[in-house]
Amino acid sequence: ARTPLMAGNWKMNLNHVEAVHLLQKLSWTLQDKKHDFERVEVAVLPPFTDIRSVQTLVDGDRMKIKYGAQDVSTRDAGAYTGEISAAMLTKLGCTYVLTGHSERRQYHNETDEIVNAKTAKALEAGLVPIMCVGEGLEIRKADGHVEHCLGQIDAGLAGLKQDDVRKVVIAYEPVWAIGTGEVATPEDAQEVIAAIRGRIEETISPSVADSVRILYGGSVKMASASGIMAQPDVDGCLVGGASLQVDEFAGICRYLD
Ligand code: 13P
Repeated sequence: ARTPLMAGNWKMNLNHVEAVHLLQKLSWTLQDKKHDFERVEVAVLPPFTDIRSVQTLVDGDRMKIKYGAQDVSTRDAGAYTGEISAAMLTKLGCTYVLTGHSERRQYHNETDEIVNAKTAKALEAGLVPIMCVGEGLEIRKADGHVEHCLGQIDAGLAGLKQDDVRKVVIAYEPVWAIGTGEVATPEDAQEVIAAIRGRIEETISPSVADSVRILYGGSVKMASASGIMAQPDVDGCLVGGASLQVDEFAGICRYLD
């Protein structure tokens, strides 16, 4: 059985002081509800500058909330001004790292090849990549969304070993649903996510397809989480805006209540 994962992508929000406040409140809220982290895993993905503080808090309070980064370099080390290596993130206790988020693809011209290289680097360093795919509105209108996402999956996972693909988390985030308040219907999410699982079954193996976790992202709120999670192939949510509000995000983590 696949353990559901609720991951909060904070994007470029919260300085390290604000990060500590939000995380402390989130932890208290989930503790109050006696949240079982083995049953529903919870992770936050803060900006790089917050991660050291998040590590200190998580370790100090023995929190079961996991954390990670929003991006990683394709390089190991050296003269790459402004970049952050996978090894640096591992050293900070990160579990996860996003690769190929649509905002990186859109504003930083990240191609499928770059996403593939970042995903491989993350795995090499012992991080779990959360590799994002998703179509824009034009492609959705032209009914090309499944094909588009499967293309991104093939390219993003290219050349990875079977045992590495098993560890990867995939996030289906339709670009038209990100930050728009326009959440995909549970059926929309299921359609693409089931197709992704089917593709992995074909190209990698049935056992990997069965174990790989595939999340939905795009305007997820407390009110929409349980409907999306009721779909058989949806294994969690990647939450942007709502992850900045403790009660909303805790509510999403508690979708079984
Ligand atoms: P919103 O939840 O704000 O739509 O963002 C989704 C997202 O991009 C998470 O990575």
